[in-house]
Amino acid sequence: MAKPAPYLPVESPPRPSRAEAEEAVRTLIRWAGDNPDREGLLDTPKRVATAYEEWFSGYGVDPVDMLQRTFEETEGYDEIVLLRDIRFESFCEHHLAPIIGKAHVAYLPSTRVIGISKLARLIEIFAKRMQIQEKLTAQIANTLDEVLQPKGVAVVLEAQHQCMTTRGVHKTGVSMVTSRLLGAFRSNTDTRREFLSMISSTGQNAGSGV
Ligand SMILES: [Zn+2]
Repeated sequence: MAKPAPYLPVESPPRPSRAEAEEAVRTLIRWAGDNPDREGLLDTPKRVATAYEEWFSGYGVDPVDMLQRTFEETEGYDEIVLLRDIRFESFCEHHLAPIIGKAHVAYLPSTRVIGISKLARLIEIFAKRMQIQEKLTAQIANTLDEVLQPKGVAVVLEAQHQCMTTRGVHKTGVSMVTSRLLGAFRSNTDTRREFLSMISSTGQNAGSGV
């Protein structure tokens, strides 16, 4: 299997100061046609910078590090472990518009398992970055595969892209679905079928709930 791509931008220019970031927001406000000095907008650059810190908090967190603590006492459990319908919020790297959806993440343990909150955290670390859905899907699957070395990993993301609903083609109600299947989920038809039936028994789809 190919090594996963590096997760942090390799060559990032030096990070600007917070004052520079706020000034850039003022510029965008002026570009949009409003006056950043009117009362309602005075604190907006500050708020936007703070929001960016939260929306893009996935940079600077090492997902492999975060996953390091695994458990080996599994009593021989060797069936699929699935966390489904995990809501995630990300931003498309082309428009910085929200991508909101649900993730289903499964693995087939070999000798190690991890706490379920770590699975959710893994999704968040990659989601809170500038993304395309395909890359987000692959990063989650590859990292889980690399750290746990399970018999298989399956990741399915269903999401709505606000760059498509609020601009451009203005198509609402459209979900994009991406998947990455590794190991047994790719090679074994029964395992794949079991996974697909486990995630489809949710009785709802990601698009309607977001
Ligand atoms: Zn976009």
